[in-house]
Amino acid sequence: MTGLQKLLRNIPAVDRVLREEPLQKLALRLPQEALSAAVQEQIGRLRQEILAEASLSANDLEPANVALAAARSCRDLLEPSLRKVINATGTLLHTNLGRAPLAEPALAAMRTVAEGYSNLEFDLGSGHRGYRYSHVEKLLTRLSGAEAALVVNNNSGAVLLALTALGQGREAVVSRGELVEIGGSFRIPDVMEAGGLQLREVGTSNRTHLQDYQNAINDNTAILLKVHTSNYRIVGFTKEVPARELAPLAREHDLVLMEDLGSGLLLDLSRFGLDPEPTVAEVVKAGVDVVTFSGDKLLGGPQAGLIVGREELIEKMRRHPLARALRIDKLTLAALEATLRLYLQPEQALQEVPILRMFSADPAHQQLRCRHLLERLEAAELAADVNLIEDIARVGGGAMPVTELADWAVEINPLRITVTELASRLRDFHPAVAARVQNEKLLVNLRAVFEREDERLAQILIAALQES
Ligand SMILES: *Cc1c(COP(=O)(O)O)cnc(C)c1O
Repeated sequence: MTGLQKLLRNIPAVDRVLREEPLQKLALRLPQEALSAAVQEQIGRLRQEILAEASLSANDLEPANVALAAARSCRDLLEPSLRKVINATGTLLHTNLGRAPLAEPALAAMRTVAEGYSNLEFDLGSGHRGYRYSHVEKLLTRLSGAEAALVVNNNSGAVLLALTALGQGREAVVSRGELVEIGGSFRIPDVMEAGGLQLREVGTSNRTHLQDYQNAINDNTAILLKVHTSNYRIVGFTKEVPARELAPLAREHDLVLMEDLGSGLLLDLSRFGLDPEPTVAEVVKAGVDVVTFSGDKLLGGPQAGLIVGREELIEKMRRHPLARALRIDKLTLAALEATLRLYLQPEQALQEVPILRMFSADPAHQQLRCRHLLERLEAAELAADVNLIEDIARVGGGAMPVTELADWAVEINPLRITVTELASRLRDFHPAVAARVQNEKLLVNLRAVFEREDERLAQILIAALQES
């Protein structure tokens, strides 16, 4: 018998493994089928490793060890997978970390709607069927100056709905400098194709003129589309045609002028050192017929796609079957309504919307928080060099790619473990901590850390550096 055959023969039976203690304990929390399936999976994995002649020892095939591995995979079922992370990366709208944290009133509104029934589609005045979108329509038209508004579950959906409802089977003209790809495989040309539109590219990557748009218009043209280059900048010898110059052209040819703003600012944030970007109201005022933007980028609300514009166009979208497929759920709607209401008074939004508070954080105050953290770490006498350094926080989330916010960070250079090991340990805590590894050091930036998390973060850093 070859060594290989011998190993295969030594794989324990499922029943035998199930009698081992780690799985017996789990039997109180999981049904028998789940445990058996986990053991079978582990056995299958071992068999494949043996056949692939991976180096396995007889020890790996001991029932107790097989049981341990199966139990580990069962525990994944029992523990929350989606959980809290302290964001010490200095990137405020981190797409992988869930973009914008919500304001208190948004959280409260979600809870109210989630725990019972609501007037989601019930008109309390008449007692008749109501309209889901009515809850945010007035706020959105008030804040944007547009005639009408509609919301769907994200901005990609908003773009798809607008293009499909307004241009299916026809052409949309877009500048080559604006054929944007957003992370997560959202590409303007692909969205066009999905919506059944023909893309007509005009201009070059760096320069597009009004004349280029003009020349591209034909009997089959439906839309002039502008896309905000929210995650890159073309600099140098450049020219783009602003919406206000495209508006008369669209009018003249009876076309829809649409702009995908991406982030969608409701307030001018340039006073905080952010790139000057047009607000949604300014874009509407410039004569754009349909504007789309995200709920969870600079707006600081839940994931949603917001559409504002001319009534007859919005009405076409409301009636399109895609609107139903992309419809916003009640929890999101509740959070969005509460967030938008904060914007009725800009000062209130700046105070209460977490992402806006982070933008407006005073660097001197950030430095103070970092200094406190540094003192905590120094007092713990850890095997690490720790320093206070100047750092930069970024907007992230595919918004304002060149904006740098002056900030501070605590730099940690562990002496007994590698930086990679330290970062990995931090991700293992509850809550997990995400920090930045830069130049072989760990950088802890507090711009996106809530002050209420500072103490917990200090404890976690100390514990991670104390583990041997
Ligand atoms: C982010 C972004 C999108 C996608 O928005 P989601 O809300 O993430 O779906 C589309 N267009 C632009 C220009 C963007 O910046």
